[in-house]
Amino acid sequence: MGKCYLGIDLGGTSAKLGVVDESGALLHQREEPTLSDEGAEDGLLRMASSLRRLTREVGIPWDAVAGLGLGLPGFLDIPRGRIIRLTNIPWEDVPVKEYLEQELQIPVAIDNDANAAALGEAWSGAGAGRSDLILVTLGTGVGGGLVTGGRLVRGVNGMAGEIGHIRVEERGALCGCGQRGCVETISSATGMTRLVREAVLSGGETILAKKAQSGSLEARGIFEAAELGDPIALKVIDAATDALARVMAVLSVVTNPEVFIIGGGISKAGEGLFAPLRQAYAKHALPQALENVQIVPAQLGNDAGMIGAAGLTAKREKMSYNII
Ligand SMILES: [Zn+2]
Repeated sequence: MGKCYLGIDLGGTSAKLGVVDESGALLHQREEPTLSDEGAEDGLLRMASSLRRLTREVGIPWDAVAGLGLGLPGFLDIPRGRIIRLTNIPWEDVPVKEYLEQELQIPVAIDNDANAAALGEAWSGAGAGRSDLILVTLGTGVGGGLVTGGRLVRGVNGMAGEIGHIRVEERGALCGCGQRGCVETISSATGMTRLVREAVLSGGETILAKKAQSGSLEARGIFEAAELGDPIALKVIDAATDALARVMAVLSVVTNPEVFIIGGGISKAGEGLFAPLRQAYAKHALPQALENVQIVPAQLGNDAGMIGAAGLTAKREKMSYNII
């Protein structure tokens, strides 16, 4: 039997734990509550014992486990494997790598959750076999991860791939990051529902008016309305895909990826999203950057972060993932 790798995708409410083989295929997984109030050390030790149990359940001896990676939401010291501060989890200044290497006696690496997801899709998802790709995650926010020449791009402060905060409007809506007019304020689910609400307030006619006013509108509803020809829904989708396509056009001349992989909840809208996005990209991209560039849906769904985290310690011939 070959080596296997362990991955944890830590979220604010739940953690996904998985066992992955050398090809990036998921062998076994388990989801458990994060219980962030129990403190970082207790939480990490609990997950460590869950991982031992998971490998036992799937019949893998501990000496076949080659490493553990964690995808974490927040500010990290990646080379040292330390959490500086997390989003939605009150853990600060935690030496994750040190704790877990001592406990499990295997190499441990950490990275942010968006990078982990990009790595997952690159390893065994929509980007398998490609060495240059960009993952764009469209959910409540807009996130991303860049893989170039088979390597994850992190940058000096780990901010590489934070594509949601590329500004597309000089005087746009206020973004969570403090800037105005980031692409996230237009192309995320939050941004799209805001645009519908604004259109309703300024007298636009739409079947979404009630939901927009009560605050119960979701991105899915906007795509459903667009299918029925609702003019406001169509306009908002147009704005969201156009803003995102402009960002992708810029990225295409920075790293020139072979494929843009679109993930996150909004990507489930299918052609309702992909058709206008491809059209807008063709309009904005440099003609030479259009050739051989695909825009495709992500394949691993919510497992991408866990699989990619496991890949942080995997060494593969074509894809070296900045092993720490
Ligand atoms: Zn922003």
